[in-house]
Amino acid sequence: MSIRVEGLYYTYNPGTPFERAALEDVNLDIHDGEFIGIIGETGSGKSTLIQHFNGLLKPTRGRVLVDAVDIWQRDVRLKDIRQKVGLVFQYPEHQLFEETVFADVAFGPRNLGLDEDEISRRVRRAIEMVGLDFEAVRDRSPFELSGGEMRRAAIAGVLAMEPSVLVLDEPVSGLDPRGRDELLREMETLHREFEYTVVLVSHSMEDVARLAKRLVVMHEGRVVADGPVREVFCMTDLLRDTGLGVPQVTELMHELARRGKQVRTDMLTVEEAKAELLRLLRSEGRVR
Ligand code: ADP
Ligand code: MG
Repeated sequence: MSIRVEGLYYTYNPGTPFERAALEDVNLDIHDGEFIGIIGETGSGKSTLIQHFNGLLKPTRGRVLVDAVDIWQRDVRLKDIRQKVGLVFQYPEHQLFEETVFADVAFGPRNLGLDEDEISRRVRRAIEMVGLDFEAVRDRSPFELSGGEMRRAAIAGVLAMEPSVLVLDEPVSGLDPRGRDELLREMETLHREFEYTVVLVSHSMEDVARLAKRLVVMHEGRVVADGPVREVFCMTDLLRDTGLGVPQVTELMHELARRGKQVRTDMLTVEEAKAELLRLLRSEGRVR
């Protein structure tokens, strides 16, 4: 499933003293099977943009096409679009409300009018997909779970709708490092094993860099860069100007290059930088 955004503008509270242009001329193509990261500092328009992907917000100007169909055409059922494009809001656990994890994850499928067998099948599958033990959590209150588990239960609720695209708004914010790593790994699995198209929204370069193949950088309501992760990581001036900052490993490699060392500068992770530094030290005969 593909999503295309054409000349999108969005203004909050038009014609009032609170008028605020949140998106300006955004153009974007998300292809089937991609893992794409959308990054930008707070207030750059990320959340506003992704709420257009499934028709929660209506463009002030421009078009949103899902599988080449303009979703605001009169004969399109937005309910179908919302089922196909699963949106996980920031802090989704705040929307958990049922007495058991099962009932919570079953809420969406039940609203689709599915029979009990199908609901059970979907709930079990979704809970297992996010790496939780179905038997262990099904009858527990979501509020007894750890923060990371609660978040995953909430994501399972979206997966139980069996969408084709999964859009996650700052999915790891507020989790401890372990919860964050576990959840990011689950996202990777969803993409690889279940072939989900994943859109991961974050203000952290480090989080998206490990998973996304392509990065879209937003700044003041516009897309200011869009390309392969390594290319975007090399745009150090742009990243500094947009308030994102350059990841420490990238900064370090650039500093070494500035000092005349023959090192690659397109490092995304600490592991990659370590390998490159060891190679440099060996070539200088400083380690064996
Ligand atoms: P991000 O998700 O990147 O932090 P948002 O899409 O939330 O950015 O916000 C983009 C801009 O729109 C910001 O200037 C923000 O203040 C404004 N904004 C967001 N939501 C609303 C709203 N409900 N009403 C008015 N302005 C809003
Ligand atoms: Mg946001």
